[in-house]
Amino acid sequence: MYMKRGELIILPHVIALKMSLGDDTMDKFDRNKRSEIMRGVKSKNTKPEIIVRKILHKLGFRFRIHRKDLPGKPDIVLPKYKKVIFIHGCFWHCHEGCKKSQLPTTNKEFWENKIEKNKIRDVENLNRIHALSWEALVIWGCEVSASKRNSLERKLLDYLKN
Ligand SMILES: [Zn+2]
Repeated sequence: MYMKRGELIILPHVIALKMSLGDDTMDKFDRNKRSEIMRGVKSKNTKPEIIVRKILHKLGFRFRIHRKDLPGKPDIVLPKYKKVIFIHGCFWHCHEGCKKSQLPTTNKEFWENKIEKNKIRDVENLNRIHALSWEALVIWGCEVSASKRNSLERKLLDYLKN
C-alpha cells in the first residue's frame, strides 16, 4: 500500500474479513506474543523490521526508529525525506488477499472485532500522517521473506528516490 502525499483512504462501511476452515494461525504464535498482543502492546524490533532496517542501511539511507511523535509510531522514519515506513504483520493488520491474514475459526467474532479495530486504526494513522504532509509506505511481513529480498529492495528504493 502506498499513498501519495495528501491522499485519503476511505474505509468501506463493512470490512469484509476472510474466514478459513480449520485454520491454525493462532497456534503458530507463542504464548508471550499472544498475550502481548492481547494487551494491545505493539511489538518492537521484530525480525521483518530488522531486515528492512538492514536493507535501508545498506542502501545508505539514514533513519530513526519508533518515533513517538508521529501518528501510529512508525517503525522507520526518514526525516530528510518526510517519509515513514510501517512494517505490518499480515495477520494482525489484515493483509488483504494474503493467506497469512486468515482468521481462526474458533472465537470468530472476537478475532473479527480485534482485527477490524486494528485495520481502522491503521487507516486513521495513515490519514493523519498524510495530513501532516508526510508520506507513508506499508511493508507487509510476507514481503520480507528471503526469496523476495530483491523486490523489497527495489520497492524501498522506488519509494525513497521518488
Ligand atoms: Zn501478507
